[in-house]
Amino acid sequence: MIDNFRLNRRRALITGSVRGIGLALARGLAQAGAQVVLNGRDAERAQGACALLRDEGLDAEYSVFDVTDHQAVATAVDALENRLGPIDILINNAGLQHRQALQDVSAEDWHRLMSTNLGGVFNVSKAVARHMIARQRGKIINIGSVQSELARPSIAPYAASKGAVRMLTRGMCADWAGHGLQINALAPGYFQTELNQALVDDPAFSDWLVQRTPAGRWGNVEELCGAAVFLASSASDFVNGQTLFVDGGLTSVV
Ligand code: NDP
Repeated sequence: MIDNFRLNRRRALITGSVRGIGLALARGLAQAGAQVVLNGRDAERAQGACALLRDEGLDAEYSVFDVTDHQAVATAVDALENRLGPIDILINNAGLQHRQALQDVSAEDWHRLMSTNLGGVFNVSKAVARHMIARQRGKIINIGSVQSELARPSIAPYAASKGAVRMLTRGMCADWAGHGLQINALAPGYFQTELNQALVDDPAFSDWLVQRTPAGRWGNVEELCGAAVFLASSASDFVNGQTLFVDGGLTSVV
């Protein structure tokens, strides 16, 4: 690996990283040399995921907070900076899905999804960026989706939130690039995780997906790590406001 892809002496906070894509990204960044800070809402699950990475010889810590709670996020981020030192890299990964015809979606479900998928990105980015701006350096990676670009039946609120994440990424670039920060989005295609269990269990969907994806298969979560390490490292120091789709070609082909 050429040197500017290494993450030695870098600390990365990855939200929603006790399982699924967040945990895979944390492992990937730690394998590239970073100290990673895992996050979730449940202390036992966060501790378990942290122990798993440490057993693999990786440098891992954890911090329990809910990304939807603006004040709790600010307190937790400040505490991390005091306890461990600078957060050099932030991956805004925490997110949820809600599958229902739009006309039946309750106001509560709409707000729950928006306050996690979009509000969470604002809350954590604001808390971390204040420190990054003071240091005039930092990397923020927002996890988008194929739905940052394309809609699908029964997930309109999710698509709206992920489209907004793409624009918030550009907005952060507009406000923070001049302060030495690089903010980009990583947009996964379809990966087998708990969030997608309903689709994984549906043979008709799986058959459609394999046909629809030029690569002809689901993604493996480890396949997101190369792009994440690139966007977290100094190899991407002049890449800003972009959305990198890691989707087997799905968004490039009708
Ligand atoms: P999972 O449901 O497997 O994991 C979600 C993670 O987020 C868990 O660690 C969960 O931990 C955490 N989390 C949820 N809500 C909160 C919250 N309010 N505060 C803090 N942590 C929270 O999801 P995936 O790994 O599949 O998805 C991760 C991200 O990737 C999401 O943003 C998703 O939209 C996106 N994505 C996923 C795709 C896929 O194919 N799976 C495709 C495209 C995008 P806990 O419950 O313990 O709090």
